[in-house]
Amino acid sequence: MYDYDLLVVGSANADLVIGVERRPGPGETVLGSDLSVHTGGKGANQAVAAARLGARTALLARVGDDAHGRLLLDSQRSAGVDTAGVLSGGAPTGVALITVDPSGDNSIVVSPGANARLTPADIRDASAQLRASRVISAQLEIPLETVGEVVAGLAPGSRFVLNPSPPVPLPAAILAACDPLIVNEHEARVVLGASVGDDPEEWARALLALGPRSVVITLGARGALVADDRTTALVPSVRVRAVDTTGAGDAFTAALAWRLGAGESLVEAASYAARVGAAAVTKEGAQVSFPTAAEVASLAG
Ligand code: ADP
Repeated sequence: MYDYDLLVVGSANADLVIGVERRPGPGETVLGSDLSVHTGGKGANQAVAAARLGARTALLARVGDDAHGRLLLDSQRSAGVDTAGVLSGGAPTGVALITVDPSGDNSIVVSPGANARLTPADIRDASAQLRASRVISAQLEIPLETVGEVVAGLAPGSRFVLNPSPPVPLPAAILAACDPLIVNEHEARVVLGASVGDDPEEWARALLALGPRSVVITLGARGALVADDRTTALVPSVRVRAVDTTGAGDAFTAALAWRLGAGESLVEAASYAARVGAAAVTKEGAQVSFPTAAEVASLAG
């Protein structure tokens, strides 16, 4: 059968974070805190989230032949992710330069680096790994044509899940493959490309009309709305004390993709994923906040 429950095709970044009293204006230099380096990128986040829950997970990504690339590989492996498909070289590892002020407002510069060099040819070279994966999940921090090649190479029977982040209008062939398309409010508006009202049910219907087999709209503390041609349901989340929502959407998506592959319905998989997203917001950080299956089970509510 399948070697992997989930193959994540996507980005891997080093997040370089410095705390500052005040973010610098043009031409200005300010002194900041010690540097902290975190592993991130939506692809790397999703892979760690799924592996921590117990899914047999692989990552298909590109990092630079540099210290950040080695750090990312180490963190994936220690979470239990198969990194045989992580390519190296061609450009420096993707980096996000982040300054955060005491009120929590930040300024971020992203250098996509090696993520932008994950090409359609890399996907064709990985066709055996794609065929060996029950569910394939992607985001848009890699080139759109690379995601298009993933869709073109899908084996019959494998399932494709897309979180179009950062969002762009999507080609029909990619939309038609999504089962589900997972968006938050901002992403829904960009993918729809039209002025839409405030009702998530309306967005879900409009998104379904674009061609995906199913749609999930994440709604933060309210949970998620799921919709396909038979069902529309609001799946509530668990009440938690939110500390840091970074990475919640990535943890939600990874959990949903894994549980769908295990045969659960959209509503069942979304209720599990909502618990995973809720657990992730109770701790600081992205990957370090992702729960194990035991932590999800012990979450009250
Ligand atoms: P994104 O980060 O992509 O905008 P959300 O913030 O909607 O995604 O979070 C994804 C999921 O995580 C939500 O659908 C919900 O299930 C869960 N979640 C997020 N924030 C909270 C919260 N404050 N309380 C409970 N669950 C949350």
